[in-house]
Amino acid sequence: MLTVNAYAATSATGPLTPTTIERRDLGPHDVLIDIAFSGICHSDIHTARSEWGATNYPIVVGHEIAGVVREVGAEVTKFAAGDRVGVGCMVDSCRECDNCRKGLEQYCLNGNVGTYGAVDRDGRPTQGGYAQAIVVTEDFVLRIPDGLALDVAAPLLCAGITTYSPLRHWGVGRGSRVAVIGLGGLGHMAVKLAHAMGAEVTVLSQSLKKQEDGLRLGADHYYATGDEETFARLAGSFDVVLNTVSAKIDLDAYLGLLAVDGTLVNVGAPEEPLSVLAFSLIPARRSFAGSMIGGIAETQEMLDFCAEHGLGAEIEVIRAEQINEAYERVLASDVRYRFVIDASTF
Ligand code: NAP
Ligand code: ZN
Ligand code: ZN
Repeated sequence: MLTVNAYAATSATGPLTPTTIERRDLGPHDVLIDIAFSGICHSDIHTARSEWGATNYPIVVGHEIAGVVREVGAEVTKFAAGDRVGVGCMVDSCRECDNCRKGLEQYCLNGNVGTYGAVDRDGRPTQGGYAQAIVVTEDFVLRIPDGLALDVAAPLLCAGITTYSPLRHWGVGRGSRVAVIGLGGLGHMAVKLAHAMGAEVTVLSQSLKKQEDGLRLGADHYYATGDEETFARLAGSFDVVLNTVSAKIDLDAYLGLLAVDGTLVNVGAPEEPLSVLAFSLIPARRSFAGSMIGGIAETQEMLDFCAEHGLGAEIEVIRAEQINEAYERVLASDVRYRFVIDASTF
């Protein structure tokens, strides 16, 4: 066992505090990674605060991990010491079900093994990336291309793939009209990726405070959703609307923005149920859909795409002791646009 420093949540209401955790001994197919940077995803906050159901405490969250391989197991073929690597939201899956065979490990019929808050195949609870090091089976480790710095690459492992996968699945490309609701961690990557794919991109934000940034990141248009006129002006004008908001919003209003055959894809995961009126869908053959991260091969494809297009996250690097303060800023929509923890401070 390897003992490493980490930060853990110990209750739904208390702050995250320093602790130590044990990582397993290297199995033949395992990779030991020295974590350099760990992104803060809003899902970490939902989990740390038991917003998606009861969390088992203590829990070390974090699933946007970038670092360098320290050591590999005897039978590892894909990685060697010194390689720059990443780990996202999953650390294993059954590998045998129909979905795993299709490269859709995130939809494993036997349940993918989440990077934190899951039970690993050895029966131990998984603990995530707010830590100095992690041990992961080689098939769930990603290669970070040379052109991407580790700090701006870390958020790609969740925010990047969660937005890349639906944009690809719903065929976004040149000529597509895409709207992104919420300019946070996921939202800002959605803007960059959709723009790089050739789409005409519109940001729908609560205010115009981040308009200049949105346009610089690649948006063609930027509207405040508090302005009643926005919805009338944009009615029926998008092929894909990507909802990245962490709270419940009025989906019917946003469905009205879809053109015929358009799709509203929900990636935001609020704790409250969402509701949809049938008559928001019926009159224009619209679809309402969801999407969860992406498979391992697709995650590698996304990293390579980002390197090719020079895309990383816009980040603010923090020290471990600033995590709780960063959480409050994320909750106040005051993140520009991802907090990344310097793992040398754990
Ligand atoms: P984030 O950085 O907090 O961004 C969310 C953005 O939504 C905010 O910056 C804000 O943007 C907007 N927003 C927040 N509260 C709002 C409200 N009450 N009404 C309207 N807009 C609001 O969060 P994130 O890390 O991007 O994650 C977003 C959501 O996606 C979370 O629920 C997370 O759990 C989920 N998620 C899902 C997956 C998946 O696989 N499906 C993966 C990762 C994360 P503006 O200020 O621009 O309005
Ligand atoms: Zn995430
Ligand atoms: Zn499976």
